[in-house]
Amino acid sequence: MVHFVGAGPGAEDLITVRGQRYLRQADVIIYAGSLVNPKLLKEAKEGCQIHNSAFMTLEEVIHVMEAAEEQSLLTVRLHTGDPSIFGAIREQMDELDKRKIPYEVCPGVSSLFGAAASLGLEYTLPEMAQSVIITRAEGRTPVPEKERLRDLAAHQTTMILFLSSGLAGKVKQELEAGGYGPDTPVAVVYKATWPEEKILRATLSDFAERMEQENITKTALIIVGNVLNGGSARSKLYDKTFTTEYRKGSEG
Ligand code: SAH
Repeated sequence: MVHFVGAGPGAEDLITVRGQRYLRQADVIIYAGSLVNPKLLKEAKEGCQIHNSAFMTLEEVIHVMEAAEEQSLLTVRLHTGDPSIFGAIREQMDELDKRKIPYEVCPGVSSLFGAAASLGLEYTLPEMAQSVIITRAEGRTPVPEKERLRDLAAHQTTMILFLSSGLAGKVKQELEAGGYGPDTPVAVVYKATWPEEKILRATLSDFAERMEQENITKTALIIVGNVLNGGSARSKLYDKTFTTEYRKGSEG
C-alpha cells in the first residue's frame, strides 16, 4: 500500500495527525527533498528506507514503490503542502493503477494556507473577492493557452501564483496587461511557516524589483489582490439582521 501524504508547508508540526501516523508506520519513505522539511524524517521508525525524490525520476520512484509492494511493505510518498496542488501525483497514481498497487491520499496544509496564516489574510472578502485563482506563470513548463495570466487577471480577484518566483518580471507584465492597476497590493511569502520565512509587502508596480533586491528566486508564493489591504464590508453570516439555519436575525 502506498500513502501519498501532504507534509504541510514547512513547519514540522503542520503535518496532519493522520499523516504523522503514517510516517511513523512507514517501512519506506520517498520524500520531496527540495521542499519537505527534513525534520519530519525524525518520525521514521528504525530501519525505515528513506529516498529523496529530488534525485529520482518517475520510473525510479515507481520502482521503489513496486519493490516495497512485493514485500508487502508500507510506503509513504511525502509531498510538500497538499499533494493535489502542483504535486505531480496523478502520474504516480496512473502507474500504480497499471500495476494494481493500492494507494490512498492523506491531505496536507498547502503553502497557500500557510502563507495566508503568516500574512493574517482572508483570501475571500465580502463584496471584494469571492474567488481565488490558483495558478502559475508559464516558464519551461507550458500553461494552457486559455489560462494565460493576462486573461485570468480580468477577474481582478485574489490570485495566488505558485512556481513563479523566477518569473516575477513576466508576472508583472501579464497582470498589468490584464488590467490590475499598478497600486494593486502584492505580497510575496518566501518559505511560509519555515523559521527562515520572509514576507515582502509591495504593489504590482514594484514587487518584481523588490523580489530581486531580496534575492527571492524560489520557494515563494506571489499573492495578488485587494484583499491584502483588507475590506470594510462585513459578512452576512454574522450580521445580526441576517437569518441563518442556526440563528434568527433581528430587525434593524
Ligand atoms: N503542493 C505544494 C506546492 C508544490 S509546487 C503546496 O500545496 O504548497 C512548489 C511551489 O509551491 C514552490 O515553487 C512555491 O511556489 C510553493 N511553495 C511550496 N512551499 C512553500 C512555502 N513554504 N512557502 C512559499 N511557497 C511555497
